[in-house]
Amino acid sequence: MSDALPGDLVELLGRVRNLAVLTGAGMSAESGVPVFRGPGGLWEGHRPEELATPRAFAEDPERVWRWYRWRLERVEAARPHAGHLALARLETSAGPDRVTLITQNVDGLHQRAGSRRVLELHGAIHRARCTARCGRTAPASEVDPADSRCPDCSGRLRPDVVWFGETLDPERVGAAVEAVEACDCLWVVGTSALVHPAAALPELAAARGAPVVEVNPEPTPLSPRATVRLPLSAAEGVPLLADRCR
Ligand code: NAD
Ligand code: ZN
Repeated sequence: MSDALPGDLVELLGRVRNLAVLTGAGMSAESGVPVFRGPGGLWEGHRPEELATPRAFAEDPERVWRWYRWRLERVEAARPHAGHLALARLETSAGPDRVTLITQNVDGLHQRAGSRRVLELHGAIHRARCTARCGRTAPASEVDPADSRCPDCSGRLRPDVVWFGETLDPERVGAAVEAVEACDCLWVVGTSALVHPAAALPELAAARGAPVVEVNPEPTPLSPRATVRLPLSAAEGVPLLADRCR
């Protein structure tokens, strides 16, 4: 199977000391978690852009919570695939601090596969948090969509994810930038690389001269600037790459 990789890529992978990996919704597609911009993204006729917003939640928290519970059920039924497992194994075999995963996914599949250094840029779907200052968090599975008031205060529990139009946690973004600045290779897997600031990370790696390897069956806006583009799915491509790292 390693013949599927070009020789100069194999050589490049053998030299990697500090790897950063950026993953997006396409990483989880083969686990059965649909991407938003595809046929499986709709729910009761609504597009995610109509549901994953602060405004939608203010207008109808029950509807937004029912959508999140539906997504959570799909995530819980999903299993990490060969790509998730290869990344977790690589983290263990490479030794401490040599592999950093930066994910836009909220599904927790990297951690379920065994990865430990994971920066969740967009939060976690299995967690709820209070919108008031009390700071309570709770398992999302325990929230009643019809009554999502916080049991500790007058606030409301919301999914602990970043919605369209919201800013990301600056500390997590800072840690992601640091990881990309320290890496000598960046893999970009299953993301259309359109949404900032995640989209800026490949640019940052490229500007520093670190090779960028893109794994995506479809070309993206990043493709022309990637050092190597593998037109493979995440479950096919990531294990091939991981096998060539020492
Ligand atoms: P996106 O814009 O990053 O697009 C998905 C990308 O994955 C596309 O470029 C597509 O070509 C690629 N892709 C599809 N199948 C693939 C496969 N098998 N292997 C590799 N690549 C594949 O993502 P989106 O769906 O528009 O979602 C936007 C945001 O919404 C995400 O960044 C995330 O925060 C959230 N979201 C999360 C999940 C999740 O947690 N699993 C799922 C959907 C959306
Ligand atoms: Zn509260």
